[in-house]
Formats: sequence, structure tokens, C-alpha cells
Amino acid sequence: MAKLIYLDNAATTQVYPEVLDAMLPYFTEYYGNPSAIYSFAGESKKAVDEARANVAALINARTEDIYFTGGGSESDNWALKATAEAYESKGKHIITSRIEHHAILHTCAYLEQKGYEVTYLDVDEDGKISLEELEKAIRPDTILISIMSANNEIGTIEPIKEIGKIAHDHGVLFHTDAVQAFGHIPIDVEEMNIDMLSASGHKINGPKGSGVMYIRKGVKIRSFIHGGAQERKRRAGTHNVPGIVGIGTAAKLAKENMEERSAKEIALRDHLIERVLKEIPYTRLNGHRTDRLPNNANFCFRFIEGESMLILLDQAGICGSSGSACTSGSLDPSHVLLAIGLPHEIAHGSLRLTLSEKNTMEEIDYTVDELKKIIERLRGMSPLYEDFVKKQNQ
Ligand SMILES: *Cc1c(COP(=O)(O)O)cnc(C)c1O
Repeated sequence: MAKLIYLDNAATTQVYPEVLDAMLPYFTEYYGNPSAIYSFAGESKKAVDEARANVAALINARTEDIYFTGGGSESDNWALKATAEAYESKGKHIITSRIEHHAILHTCAYLEQKGYEVTYLDVDEDGKISLEELEKAIRPDTILISIMSANNEIGTIEPIKEIGKIAHDHGVLFHTDAVQAFGHIPIDVEEMNIDMLSASGHKINGPKGSGVMYIRKGVKIRSFIHGGAQERKRRAGTHNVPGIVGIGTAAKLAKENMEERSAKEIALRDHLIERVLKEIPYTRLNGHRTDRLPNNANFCFRFIEGESMLILLDQAGICGSSGSACTSGSLDPSHVLLAIGLPHEIAHGSLRLTLSEKNTMEEIDYTVDELKKIIERLRGMSPLYEDFVKKQNQ
């Protein structure tokens, strides 16, 4: 098999060697429980504090407002379920969008069963919500707006600052699932009026199972995991010290290198998009052309079935995805692609390639060359394509 070309960084990323190096001593050498009194545990406590400061610095938050969790999904669940409970007496209405990650959508469905009402905002053909519709959806009993910072499938960046302003003006809490944005694009919880934010370590070259929740001072939120007094009594459980050091180090590196990283990724992404759109006919780019994550490309190829394309790409050593990792294994087309208005048959032929700064132009060129052959081959076997070509030639 050819060398592995990993283009699925929205699903997960490699733990960077610097991150692993920082984590290792906390497994074997400094294994103390940071909640213990003796000075040996002080090393672990210091590491957790430092990680918290690094995460806070990345999003311009107060260090005390950062809470460590077991990942992005946990943070999303916590934000929604615990605010829903805490603000029940004010109202039971939540606003979100149709293109959220399932960690948000399935939590909303759960809350609907519990008697909450959820408004799912539509998005335009690029995947952006409408600020007017958002404002119109706010009611006296609205307690929370939860809109993702950037979409994990099509890469579209939402107008977070404007959403935060609307939420703030109406006295409604604003949570953002920033799992794809955190460490990839600038986020400032002050400037953007963000009250709560979810992030995950493994999407920014940190370890899996490490997450963050930012909770602005003054937000009433219940504890989600009950138990010990860790994390200011808001998230019980012995600290995952190596994981916390991992996400903290990844956040620090992301802050230091963000500009350089995204410039590299944008150059690769734009080359990929340009070549694919130019060289493969009947192709569309999904997501906003410029307001998109630096590393995201998402296409639909007409007359192609996504799964077969992924299998053939895999045979060429290329890891890509159609839709999100969470929906693979199901035959339903992506809810995101349907929400931007694509018909089922086109949404089925989607391919998401998400890059990292460590990819090279050679890898991108090889990928496009292989993809061209694969699409040609699959279309050659498609009766729909054959009919289409016949009609074109009539
Ligand atoms: C990956 C992802 C999540 C889930 O994060 P985990 O750490 O894998 O639980 C949530 N939201 C978005 C947008 C994601 O991309």
C-alpha cells in the first residue's frame, strides 16, 4: 500500500510529539492526585493549573472559568442539560441550528422529551444561520442559544460575535460548540459575548477523552457529574492529569502557531479546492467559500456514491470521510448537507477532506490525481451517469 495520507483531521488528529512528551511524566513520575495535601501531589496540581491557564489564554477567558471534562460531547451535554435545569423557572425554550453536531442535536431531542421546546434554525446554502431569524426566534421564555462556532462537516464559520451580541442584548445565555474552532481560528469569549463554550483535546493534536468547558462567572449551572469537590464542585471525578496536561499543551501550541498553521492549511486547502473544481466535472464545493475553517474541503460529486469513493480512496492510502465520523455506518445522508438544501442523491456523493499543516502539496496533488481516476471509474459504472451523458449529447 502507498504511504498513508491522512485527510480526516476533523474526525481526530495526531497527538503531537511535544504534547505527548509533556504528558508522559504525569503517568509515571508525578502520578499524585492533585486534590491531595502532600507536596508530591503539588506537582500534579501545578500541572493542572498551568493547563487551565493555557486554555484560558487561547480564548481570552479568566483561568477560573475553565473546567476540564471528558471531551467535547460531555461539555455539550453539560452545557445544555445543566442550564436547562438551572433556568427552568425562567423558561423552557432553547434555540439551536439544524447543522449542529449530534452531541447537541441528540441532547436537544432528549430535552424535548423532558418538556423543553427547541427551535432549530435553518441555514442558507453556505451553512450560515440568519441573524434576523435568530432574533425573531427569541421569546420571553428563551433560556439558551447554542450555535456552533464552525461546522465539522462543511467547515462554515458562523457569525459568532453577532450571535453573542443578539443573545446579550436579549439577556439570553449563549453557548457555542467550538470543538472545530478552538485552536484553529481566533476565539475571544469577551469580544464575542460567549457565556459557555465546549472544546475537545483530540481535535487540536491533544489526547482523546480530554475536553474543556468555559463557563462565564455568574452563569448558574448545575453540576453534571456528581461526586467529589473537583473543578469547584462543578465536575466531579479525579483529574485526568495527563489528559489535562495534553489539552493544555495543545492549546498553548495552537495559540503560538495559529497564524502560521492556518496559512499553511489555507494554501493546501485552496490548491485542493481549485484543482478538484477545475478538473472534476459535475462537482460542487459545500460550505462557505471563504468563511470556512482553514483545513476543511467538502465536495459533492454527482452520480457518485460516497461509500464506494471512500473505499477506493482507502485503497490508494488516502483517509477521507463522507459527512462525519459519527454518521458513517448509517445510510442516511448527512443532516448538514440536507440542511444546506442538497437533494438526497447529491448529498450521498459527498467527500470531506480535512487537512493538517503537516500535509504536503505533493500529497494533495496525489490525492486529486487518485480522486479523478476514482470518480471516472465509478461514473463509468453508473447507469445514471450513462443516461445523463446520452441526454447531454442529444
Ligand atoms: C468532535 C466533535 C464533538 C465531539 O467531541 P468529542 O471530544 O469527540 O466528544 C462535538 N462537536 C463537534 C463540532 C465536533 O467536531
